[in-house]
Amino acid sequence: MLTEISSIDAPELNRRFHTAHPSEICGWAAETFGDGLVLTSSFGAESLCAIHLVIAVKPDIPIVFINTGYLFPETLGFMEAMRHRYHLNVREYHSRYDPMVWLTIHGENDPRQRRDVEACCAAHKNEPFDRAMRELKPAAWIRGIRAEQSTHRAQLEVLRWNSRTACWAISPLLNWNRRQVHAYMKQHQLPDHPLWAKGYASIGCNPETCTRPIAPGDHHRSGRWNGLDKKECGLHLDHGAGI
Ligand code: SF4
Repeated sequence: MLTEISSIDAPELNRRFHTAHPSEICGWAAETFGDGLVLTSSFGAESLCAIHLVIAVKPDIPIVFINTGYLFPETLGFMEAMRHRYHLNVREYHSRYDPMVWLTIHGENDPRQRRDVEACCAAHKNEPFDRAMRELKPAAWIRGIRAEQSTHRAQLEVLRWNSRTACWAISPLLNWNRRQVHAYMKQHQLPDHPLWAKGYASIGCNPETCTRPIAPGDHHRSGRWNGLDKKECGLHLDHGAGI
């Protein structure tokens, strides 16, 4: 198992991975990092694609699931159903705060809205994520992000050193588009999140400011933090979000 930064030729591997099938990238990750791998998943609309690809080569991989306290009940039910169906090694990390108490203390009077999204994501998403990574100390972290999801993600490489988590970040789906993801899900008969059929193309937390259904023709990420400049919860930013 390779874990030293110097033992990985990232530029050469990224040239190879640019056109590689995600299953080849996942296979390389399992062979290279073995038990040093973790996967993160939101159990959102397209999450089963990455999970299915990764457990094919590393069935017992720890899957870090951040429970912010503001998730849709459908997401929690979906996670439990998938955990049972695919025997997933889900590691659920919770926010340190009682969700309703936190809102009261921070002057958030309407649970259906969020005024300070950066403070909320810092407390309920990024802190548990950083805690999970400190505890699990992975050599490499697989994530399901894709380049077409945002301008930030479009600038990333499949394999890159992540100084925030002190491990390699691997994005096997980075160069796939939505059509390829959904073709893979259909081919392997992977279940949809229950909110998918209701127009939720990207699913995060339940306030209307954070996740909304979209109309036909809208960008599939446009239901997230709709109307705000915010495009990332912070997990995929090297510096986190507001912490
Ligand atoms: S997505 Fe919304 S509710 Fe969830 S942690 Fe971020 S601001 Fe809070």
